[in-house]
Amino acid sequence: MSRRILFVSSEVYPFAKTGGLADVSHSLPRALNAIYNVEVVMPLYRSIDKEKYNISPWGKPFDLLMGGVSYPLQFHSCTFEGIKYLFIYTPCLCDREFLYGTHEAGYEDNAIRFGLFSWAIMLLLKGEHYDIVHLNDWQSALVALLVNEESLISTKTIFTIHNLAYQGVFEHSVLKFIGIDERYFTMDALEFYNKVNFIKAGIAYAQSVTTVSPTYAKEILSHKYGCGLEGFLELHSYKLRGILNGIDAEHFSPVSDTALVATYNSVKGKRVSKSAFLKHIKLKGVTKPLFVFIGRFAEQKGMDLLIESLDKIAHMDCNIALLGEGANHFHEELTLLSQRHKNIHLTIKYDEAFAHQMYAASDFLLMPSLFEPCGLNQMIAFAYGSIPIVHHVGGLADTVKRFDGYDAASSYGYGVLFNTPKSRSFVGAVQKALDLYSDKKLFEEIANHNMKCDFSWTKSAKIYSDLYEKLLK
Ligand code: ADP
Repeated sequence: MSRRILFVSSEVYPFAKTGGLADVSHSLPRALNAIYNVEVVMPLYRSIDKEKYNISPWGKPFDLLMGGVSYPLQFHSCTFEGIKYLFIYTPCLCDREFLYGTHEAGYEDNAIRFGLFSWAIMLLLKGEHYDIVHLNDWQSALVALLVNEESLISTKTIFTIHNLAYQGVFEHSVLKFIGIDERYFTMDALEFYNKVNFIKAGIAYAQSVTTVSPTYAKEILSHKYGCGLEGFLELHSYKLRGILNGIDAEHFSPVSDTALVATYNSVKGKRVSKSAFLKHIKLKGVTKPLFVFIGRFAEQKGMDLLIESLDKIAHMDCNIALLGEGANHFHEELTLLSQRHKNIHLTIKYDEAFAHQMYAASDFLLMPSLFEPCGLNQMIAFAYGSIPIVHHVGGLADTVKRFDGYDAASSYGYGVLFNTPKSRSFVGAVQKALDLYSDKKLFEEIANHNMKCDFSWTKSAKIYSDLYEKLLK
């Protein structure tokens, strides 16, 4: 009998996605399912299409008691791509317009919402035996504390930090509403500057803590990237390690991508996608390099740097397309830029198919992130033959090698790197990319090389499984 793993995430592609966590929660369990019996559990948000995925009630509805209040709850389930998915439905958690809130602020009762999520996971762990429960980000971090408290559960806990900037910090008063004892309000547990910090539960009580790239695992121990938890993480560093994320090689493949006007297997084949895309967004000049940005319009993604640099980049002989959504002030500034420059096109929305078409059409992907736990976009760009221009930080440093050191025999993906998150340095990198583009032979050789690199989960899923085995020894 293979071991049973419960993979817990607050978002999973294709059911609900706001970012990379959903991609990882889809592709990592799929990779692990070859070795284990993996089940994935998430909230049944209102936006999830129950009919499309055949999601139906699992067991009877009941009331969950948390902090003296009773909440109606119903588990649901479905099987999708060979994996069993469990869904937790309780109105307070699920009946919302967004998953966590707007780009400006999280929902005020997020502590209660994800407290409920965590207590519901506990019911699953009490009901059936799982060898491992793999928790992800602050939304499920409390489960590590609850399992630790429950002597009857022998399940081992592993907690993965996908982005330390999001910690789930709430007023002290929430403790009583989420059914957590006051004795946990100490520095070595949940207390954080007189508030309650959910992610600390995962770090303190999980038996193993991972984050999504080796470089980020080191960076978060520093004042610069530790988001106030560097000391706490240092204390627990004996059980912390960085494991590089992968991408789903089937989902992100230009050879079979149904979102594309024409599939392709080498950089020459991108031309059809590029002209169709430029026509669609009404930009001219198929022979000019196309730079794209795809992602959340957030400080982390280097939006200030991008906005500061775009005037200069737009004066170069190129086209620029931006896709994303985020804080209102970024929308406003980017809109002004796209009005000022004919060669900048801005799309404010979340659109999976459109993003795939952009990867396929583009020559370069702009990724000036101030910090980046792993980043998936640069790996997706490699797969689609688009060369990433990245700040040398976090997972970007682990995945992108300098193109000037290009070695056809290596298995690394190559791109353009810059070291300091300053406009001069970023614009210099874009200029370097333009020079590379003018050397058509080298540009195509590197892009073709990148397309063949393996960024799938094969290597990292093995590292996770070794870790699971170590915990179970
Ligand atoms: P994040 O920090 O947002 O999680 P990642 O690089 O880890 O960033 O993952 C981002 C994922 O979300 C990628 O699959 C990317 O293509 C996708 N994505 C980001 N913004 C958009 C958008 N506006 N429309 C479609 N896909 C998007």
